Amino acid sequence: MSDCIFCRIIKGELPSSKVYENDDIVAFKDINPAAPVHVLVVPKIHIESLESLDRDNMEVVPKIHAAILEVTKIMGINKDGYRVIVNCGKNGGQTVPHLHYHVLGGAVFDEKIV
Ligand code: 5GP
Ligand code: ZN
Repeated sequence: MSDCIFCRIIKGELPSSKVYENDDIVAFKDINPAAPVHVLVVPKIHIESLESLDRDNMEVVPKIHAAILEVTKIMGINKDGYRVIVNCGKNGGQTVPHLHYHVLGGAVFDEKIV
């Protein structure tokens, strides 16, 4: 999608601080970090949200999870632990309509919703 911020980052039209990339996934630092480590793990194909996953694109999910494991090693948070968040839609607080997983680490998160 030409007007999608994350599609533009993926295409290299907008700058980002990439930490990991493969054929299907890119991971880059969040511009407004909520933790010492805050990386967004994003599929290269434009999928609007978790709710937009279907039989035709679902295969990207294990690829995202595999990329998260690479990112946690690269960022050095795999041993101490981390939090993974996906905001979905209006009530979930999603602000960028391109599926992304927040990977947060480098601190103990006291505040818990669940
Ligand atoms: P959401 O609120 O949709 O779950 O998460 C969107 C995230 O994208 C936010 O944490 C926000 O800081 C981040 N973000 C928004 N625009 C940009 C950008 O242009 N570059 C980067 N690296 N992160 C962005
Ligand atoms: Zn997009």
